[in-house]
Amino acid sequence: MTKRREFVLRVIPLAGALAVLPRVTLAADAPPLAEEDKMAVSLGFRLSSAKVDQAKYPKHTTEQVCGKCLHYKSPEADTAKCDLFSKIVPKGGWCSGFSKRP
Ligand code: SF4
Repeated sequence: MTKRREFVLRVIPLAGALAVLPRVTLAADAPPLAEEDKMAVSLGFRLSSAKVDQAKYPKHTTEQVCGKCLHYKSPEADTAKCDLFSKIVPKGGWCSGFSKRP
């Protein structure tokens, strides 16, 4: 095996791993958001949109879920980082910061 070929075979997989690593690390760095979190409480966050206090949030509908919110970073995933809290939330969650994804 030539040195050039050996170099290419070693560098290309390493470059691919380095390209993926920051995304994996960022997702793993964010902790899950708990309903008891101080900011979560102030925004009425619930892990399930079906459990929102409708009397307190009359404009809430069950169609409003994190997965359809502009702040939810990976709409295809079951859980994702919410950029309002910088924490992981479930696709079916909700808070009063909900903003419908266009
Ligand atoms: S801002 Fe959006 S994604 Fe974040 S918790 Fe509230 S509804 Fe869910």
